[in-house]
Amino acid sequence: MTKTVNHVTKSILNVGEMASGAKLTVPVYRFAGQSDAPSVYIQANMHGAEVQGNAVIYQLLEQLRNLHILGDITLVPYANPVGCNHKNGEYTLGRFDPITGVNWNRMYHHNPDLVVPFVQDNVDASEQEIKAKFKQVLLDDIDQQLDHNMYGLTTGQRIAYQLQKMAHQADLVLDLHTGPISSKHLYCPEYARASASYFNIEHTLLIPNEFDGALDEATFCPWWSLAQAYAAKGRPLVLNKESFTVELGSQEQIDLDVALDDANSVLTYLSYKGVIKGVSKGANNGANKGEENTSEQFVPAQITRYACYLKDYKAFYSPMGGMVDYLAEFGVPLPAGEPLARILRMDNYGDGDALHYISLDKEVIPILHFASASVNQGTELYKVFTEFFTL
Ligand SMILES: [Zn+2]
Repeated sequence: MTKTVNHVTKSILNVGEMASGAKLTVPVYRFAGQSDAPSVYIQANMHGAEVQGNAVIYQLLEQLRNLHILGDITLVPYANPVGCNHKNGEYTLGRFDPITGVNWNRMYHHNPDLVVPFVQDNVDASEQEIKAKFKQVLLDDIDQQLDHNMYGLTTGQRIAYQLQKMAHQADLVLDLHTGPISSKHLYCPEYARASASYFNIEHTLLIPNEFDGALDEATFCPWWSLAQAYAAKGRPLVLNKESFTVELGSQEQIDLDVALDDANSVLTYLSYKGVIKGVSKGANNGANKGEENTSEQFVPAQITRYACYLKDYKAFYSPMGGMVDYLAEFGVPLPAGEPLARILRMDNYGDGDALHYISLDKEVIPILHFASASVNQGTELYKVFTEFFTL
C-alpha cells in the first residue's frame, strides 16, 4: 500500500516472517528527485539499541518537505524489525541475531567475481553506460540470492539483502548507527575522505577496500574494485559512489534536538553532493516562508576533524575484572600516561589495591567505551584513535 503525503511516499516492505506467521515489516519513505542528481539511501537502527538514527530520519523527513530535492532519496527507519524489538529486561539487545549469534551488520552480500568479467565485456563503454550496467549487475546478483537460491537464506540475510537491494539503487548510502557510550564518528572509505569534511562529525575512520559484511562496504567495495580495474587498463573513472556508516553517539538514547543537528550534518553533505538545494519551495507555506531555508544553513561547521586509518583504530581490553570508572573524555587527545579509567576492586580493600589506574604509553583519542561499569578481564573497555591526524 502506498500513500503520498506532500511529496513523501510511504510504503511497507516485507522482509520476513515470524513463526506465528506475523510479517516482519520495514517502513520505507521516498522523495522523488527533480533531476538526475545523485540518489540517496539512508537507513537506521540495524542494531536494535542504536535508535538515534530513527530520530535523525524523522528530522530529515521534516526538513526535506521544504527543500528542493534534486536526487531521489529513500529513508528507512527501523531497518531491522527483529533487532529493534529484541529486549531483555529494561535493555535493548539486537546487536547479534539471537539464533545464529551473527552480528546483524555482517550479513550483507558481496560477490568479488563480478568485476573482472564486467570490465572485459565493457572495456569501451561510456562512463554512463558503465554506471547503469554495473548497477544492474549488482541488483541481479542480489535478486539471484533472494529469489533463486534453492538452499535459502538466514533470517538476517533475508533482511539485509532486501535493504541492500534498495541501497544498490542509490549513489550515496548512509547507514546510521551509534556506539555503546560514544562520541560521534564516521566510517569513510579512503577514496572519499574529501567528503568527510562536509559532515559535522569530529572523528573520521578511513577504511580500506575490504569487505567484512557491513552495508557500507557491501555498497562501496564493488564500485571501488570496478574503478581500480578500469584504472589498471589506463582508464580512470569518476563514479561518484559513496557509502558511510555514521555513528551518532550512544545507544539506547533518543535526543530530538541533537537529531536535528545530525540531520543538518547529513543535509550539508547532501547539499555538497548536489542532491538538495537549500532554498525552500515554500509552495504551501506563504510567500516569504521559503526564504527561511537558505543554502547558508548547509555550510559545514568549523570544527577540528580528526581522522585515523582503520588499522590504527585500537580496542583496549580490560587487563582485569572489576568495576570501571571511565575517566578519559571522548574526542580530546589524551596524553601518554594520563589515566583512561580506574578499576575498583572492593575484594582487595584493606589487604590489597582497591584501585587500579589504567593508562597507555602513547597519545590517543578515546572514541567510545563499554556500556556497563562491571567488566570481566578481557572486556573491550575503550576504542581509541592512534596515529591520528587532522583532515
Ligand atoms: Zn551499529
